Parts: sequence; structure tokens; C-alpha cells
Amino acid sequence: MKALEDKILSEGRVLEGGVLQVGAFLNQLVDTSFTEKMAADIASAFADSCITKVLTIETSGIMIAFATASALGVPMVFAKKNKTSNLSGEMLTAEIRSFTHNNTYTAAVCADYIKPDDNILIVDDFLANGEALRGLISLARSGGASVAGCAVQIEKGFQQGGDKLRKEGYRIYSLAVIDEMSTDRGIVFRQM
Ligand code: 5GP
Repeated sequence: MKALEDKILSEGRVLEGGVLQVGAFLNQLVDTSFTEKMAADIASAFADSCITKVLTIETSGIMIAFATASALGVPMVFAKKNKTSNLSGEMLTAEIRSFTHNNTYTAAVCADYIKPDDNILIVDDFLANGEALRGLISLARSGGASVAGCAVQIEKGFQQGGDKLRKEGYRIYSLAVIDEMSTDRGIVFRQM
């Protein structure tokens, strides 16, 4: 999506360690009308997939997942990262290794919210090593649901998580794929 690539170049900041900061329009200050445009693009890519629910993980996946679910006319459910007192009953859980925080956490969704007749679209903000998407795929599967595919706003192609998932047969739809990124040489997008 050319408009997203332009926004990454003008408003994003490349940090040390292969991290892209996009707090100015995506992760903290949220450009709502642009989020709706990105969501419309994802929704049209999955328009024929009979999606029944969009699944994401808190916190930064929620905005694009909500907008995508709204565009598709289906509910959105998000996995929680910490078991809190307002989670009770049977839970679906998955262990996820965090790229940005360098730790492992348990993602949890109430088992009532994912059912065997669900056909799930997984949505997140970033795809790096693919751990978050793998965790969400495993959560959906453990509830007996089908996974139609995954969509992300920004894939960091140089970390290869997306291409590994594609090789395993998953449909991975990314609005922008960064193949090279460094503080001195800037950002190179994949031609799609
Ligand atoms: P993965 O699990 O694919 O390694 O990493 C994806 C998760 O890590 C996303 O949910 C996202 O929140 C976070 N993430 C990974 N790389 C970046 C990055 O460069 N910038 C930001 N803001 N978040 C990232």
C-alpha cells in the first residue's frame, strides 16, 4: 500500500536493533481515517473468505483489528497478555516470545469467544519473527476454529517470519513489507 510506505518514510523512525517506531500515526497517536483505509484494504483482500471473527493481541493490534472487523461486519476478539482478575472460566492459551520486550508471555482468550464454526482472520500491527501470529494461530486452532489467514500493517521481511509462514501454507497479507532497514541506509520496501 503506497500510502503506508510514504507514511513510514515520512513519519517513521528506524531505531537500533531492527525496530521501527511508528508511534506518530500507528502505535500511539492513531491516525483514525488512515487506519480505516488500511482496514478497508485488508477487508477487501479477505472479502470472499467468509470470515466470522477477527483475532488479535493487545495492545497495538487492537486498532487495526477493530477497524478491519468493522469493515467486514464481524466481531473482533483480542487475546490478553496477562491473566487478570476479570478473566475467568475456561481459557485458550499460547506462549509467545516477544520480539520487542525480549520475554515470553502467555496470551489468553476466553474459550467461549472462539468456536469450532469460526473462520478466523488474524490481524496485527507488525510481523517480525512471526511469534505473535504463530501464537494466535495456535490459540484459534485450540478452540477448534479454522484460520483463513493473517494480515498485518507492516511486515519486516528481513526477519523472515512472514516468508516462513507462507512456506507452511498460511495466507499472509501485508500492507507494506520492509526488506532492508538500517539507521544509516534507511528503508527498502519489497516490490509487490
Ligand atoms: P513477531 O512476533 O512477529 O516477532 O513480532 C511481532 C510483534 O512484535 C508485534 O505484535 C509488534 O507489536 C511487535 N513488533 C515487532 N517488531 C516491531 C517494530 O519494529 N516496531 C514496533 N512498533 N513493534 C514491533
